[in-house]
Amino acid sequence: MCKHILNAQVSIRAACCQRWFDCAECHAEVSDHQIRKTTEMVFACKKCKKCFRKDTENFDETDEYCPHCDNHYVLDAKTPSFGIGVEGDDPRKDNRMIKDERIKQDPKRSIFNQEFSNKMG
Ligand SMILES: [Zn+2]
Ligand SMILES: [Zn+2]
Ligand SMILES: [Zn+2]
Repeated sequence: MCKHILNAQVSIRAACCQRWFDCAECHAEVSDHQIRKTTEMVFACKKCKKCFRKDTENFDETDEYCPHCDNHYVLDAKTPSFGIGVEGDDPRKDNRMIKDERIKQDPKRSIFNQEFSNKMG
């Protein structure tokens, strides 16, 4: 369950460690390395639980839908609206909260424009 993008419709597989995450922030929290950016991304639809690949270099409107169940998975990210960063004495937790704060200030961000902002416009 991703707390960064509340309406995440897909999981993405990180090319670097072959693990599944809801977003790059989730990857950052549990990894000691940067997520590797690839043009071909592997997704798992949360609705039909099937996997599919997309080439983000050639991404158009029809690619915003799951090829198996037509679930529209490219959405503006819904991020937590409650106040974050006022509690927590664990330094790791504090780091995460700072990150969350950053996300909150950028509500248009999704798994796509986060990783491919220059390509996705
Ligand atoms: Zn990784
Ligand atoms: Zn996340
Ligand atoms: Zn689907």
